[in-house]
Amino acid sequence: MREITNKSLVSFFCKPSEISLEISNPATGEVIGHIPTQSEAEIKSAIEKSHTAQQSWAKTTAKEKSKILLRWYQLVMDNQADLASIMTQEQGKPLVESAGEVAYGASFIEWFAEEGKRTYGDVIPAPAGDRRLLTIKQPIGVAAAITPWNFPIAMITRKAAPALAAGCSFIVKPANQTPLSAYALAELAKQAGLPEGLLQVVVNHSSKMVGDEFCRNPLIRKLSFTGSTVVGRQLMMQCADTVKRTSMELGGNAPFIVFDDADVDRAVQGAIASKFRNAGQTCVCANRFYIHDAVYDEFVEKFIAGVKVLKIGNGLDAGVNIGPIIDQNAKNNINDLIRRAVDQGAKIAAGGTPLDELFIEPTVLIDVSQDMDIVQQEIFGPVAPLIRFRHDEELIAMANDTIYGLASYLYSNDINRIWTVAEALEFGMVGINEGIISTEVAPFGGVKQSGIGREGGKQGIDEYMVVKYLCFGNI
Ligand code: ADP
Repeated sequence: MREITNKSLVSFFCKPSEISLEISNPATGEVIGHIPTQSEAEIKSAIEKSHTAQQSWAKTTAKEKSKILLRWYQLVMDNQADLASIMTQEQGKPLVESAGEVAYGASFIEWFAEEGKRTYGDVIPAPAGDRRLLTIKQPIGVAAAITPWNFPIAMITRKAAPALAAGCSFIVKPANQTPLSAYALAELAKQAGLPEGLLQVVVNHSSKMVGDEFCRNPLIRKLSFTGSTVVGRQLMMQCADTVKRTSMELGGNAPFIVFDDADVDRAVQGAIASKFRNAGQTCVCANRFYIHDAVYDEFVEKFIAGVKVLKIGNGLDAGVNIGPIIDQNAKNNINDLIRRAVDQGAKIAAGGTPLDELFIEPTVLIDVSQDMDIVQQEIFGPVAPLIRFRHDEELIAMANDTIYGLASYLYSNDINRIWTVAEALEFGMVGINEGIISTEVAPFGGVKQSGIGREGGKQGIDEYMVVKYLCFGNI
């Protein structure tokens, strides 16, 4: 591990042992540290602790909760450089992207510190003169989360912050590849004055064991998951036994559409930002590109020129745009999709050279067709398949031809077309002439098999609250 200024952020490291978890840097393979894991019994008692802590937290005023959350926000920002360094070393993304994620992650803490003060109920006009009806919102109880490795901080804060602001306690199992950011975040929450037991991190070599306990334990009233659709489906089924509320942020297969009236230079810029951020390992990354026949050649030429200057390497080195893929398994899956696309008739127009270790060259595929696996599946890597289209109806049908419905992007300067297509796209989010759309102030989430629930925005806190109806009679 490179030098970290604030030593408290790495204070949870332990000596290697049979039960410790080894964390390595995907860019170099170097082992950067070991952390303790928790047994099933320890996880059960952590959930009980969470339950006890929640009882008094629920009685704390919104303003008091807000003050603690704002201190946490400030500490995260004060430690931005150290947190970014930890993140790049365990996850691989370029340091500037890590610093950006720390700020993005912190923004959810600030936002929900404010939103927590506005969890209003309603006064309902009564159907009878002697009655008065109203609703109040209350915290759901203990909220658990399972988060992925691609955004080690932001995927936690956008669940933890609304949960805590709502008056819930929060227990998270981060991905085993990236638990260091999670522990550092929890340490800062402690330093901000968050009472003990309200934010706990648990890990075990078996993610399934932790997930099983989260789903089964009746003290947990809410499970929020970000990860693959396969695991999300499984968790939803498991949560049925105890009838838990769930939020699911699952896989995506984002279409990136460029119409003939689009500003092609802007579209290329947006396409590169959307596709290659985090080496293509985000659920909102453009997964397939539909380019109108009239601008196809111009787009391809400019896109390839932009892709060729992207610098691959260790995220800690200056000027690097594309870091490593998270692990060998993920790299194999991406390479396999490229190989199958080529077998099915696609041509490699840029990239495609095999690289050592966990790196994959940014790759552009042309002559791609709708039925290819690379169009139907989530790539989660720096590969852009390009499809030519001619008619809007055909385009909309192709864009919606997927089980997923998370993000989508369209570039056009025709306001009628923008409205028509944006309304027809079966996706939870539409970027219009914009390739990067995530922000704490807007609701993030999908439709179809991309999930249920929304994170961020004014909606995000409701995921952690229940509406209680009070009926006053005989007035
Ligand atoms: P990814 O492909 O991004 O790793 P996963 O859905 O496999 O997506 O992982 C997302 C999170 O879910 C990680 O924290 C991982 O450890 C966890 N996870 C994976 N399998 C299970 C499972 N069976 N039960 C609970 N959590 C799981």
